[in-house]
Amino acid sequence: MTIQQDILAEIKQYETIIIHRHQRPDPDAFGSQLGLKAILSASFPDKKIYAVGKNVPGLAWIGEMDVIEDKVYRDALVIVTDTANSPRVDDLRYDTGRELIKIDHHPNDEPYGDWFWVEAGQSATSTMIYQFYEQLADELTLTKEAARLLYIGIAGDTGRFNYGLNTETMRVVGELLKMDVDYPTIHQRMDTISQNAAKLAGYVLQNVTVLDSGFAYFILTNEMIEAAELGEAGTAFVVPLPAKIDRVKAWAIFEQQDEGNYRVRLRSRSIVINTIAKQFEGGGHPLASGAWAQNERDVTRLIETVDAALQAAEAAKEN
Ligand code: AMP
Repeated sequence: MTIQQDILAEIKQYETIIIHRHQRPDPDAFGSQLGLKAILSASFPDKKIYAVGKNVPGLAWIGEMDVIEDKVYRDALVIVTDTANSPRVDDLRYDTGRELIKIDHHPNDEPYGDWFWVEAGQSATSTMIYQFYEQLADELTLTKEAARLLYIGIAGDTGRFNYGLNTETMRVVGELLKMDVDYPTIHQRMDTISQNAAKLAGYVLQNVTVLDSGFAYFILTNEMIEAAELGEAGTAFVVPLPAKIDRVKAWAIFEQQDEGNYRVRLRSRSIVINTIAKQFEGGGHPLASGAWAQNERDVTRLIETVDAALQAAEAAKEN
């Protein structure tokens, strides 16, 4: 039996299936979670299938979460998508069902659950959910809405087909487009920002620090975030901006939190940075990670660490 067949066999045994994903969700977290829910709901109309976690105003255009009582978990199968580590699962009740399955495309640092299907080489967890459907297409139904959700997830995690691509990703995207996914509307929704956000983007591009090593960083303070009046948009649009500058090899956006500490969003197009993220309470993909800086000293330490790693990589190239 393949792992996909094992997972389907588990699903068939349960009347109630509850799907979770990670905190601070992105389009792949929503897409994989809600895409799986759409496939299972269409395939098993008699089962109760829920997707839980906080609703996020900026992602409401993708879909809405279900609100369920604790007792629903009693005899439920729980599936967590797109979440490498159990502390990052949104809604800590994930652990109170009868069985737990992890489906993810991040490095398998923590193989939690009774079953896991993890492929770190995949562009998005949404790609895997499509493959799950496809490999079991005799028994599963892919609706147009499921295809829309999975397309959004893949477009999100590949930066609108800019990175992390392989032929399998593009084959799956081709299959999803056959379901008549309205991709121009999706791309417009993902690629446009409010005028306030555009003003902040301009400010970031004018003021981003770029070190000789090719490391760029910008510290987004509470004041800037408040002054920008971003509303539902959040600050995700700032993250790819430093990559517009040609000599940037790795970059970080430090986003100040209400508590005064900083959420760090770390990206690279050269050196592996998830090893550095792990030194700062974080992790993620080799070229796209998240971390935390508790104070200005941590901010400086993180900047110095990435700067040194880029310099070391350059020196190794020259030797
Ligand atoms: P972000 O910068 O939040 O978009 O995250 C980039 C990648 O790093 C995603 O794949 C996240 O799942 C992962 N990530 C972000 N923050 C953390 C964290 N604190 N611990 C582990 N992984 C993280």
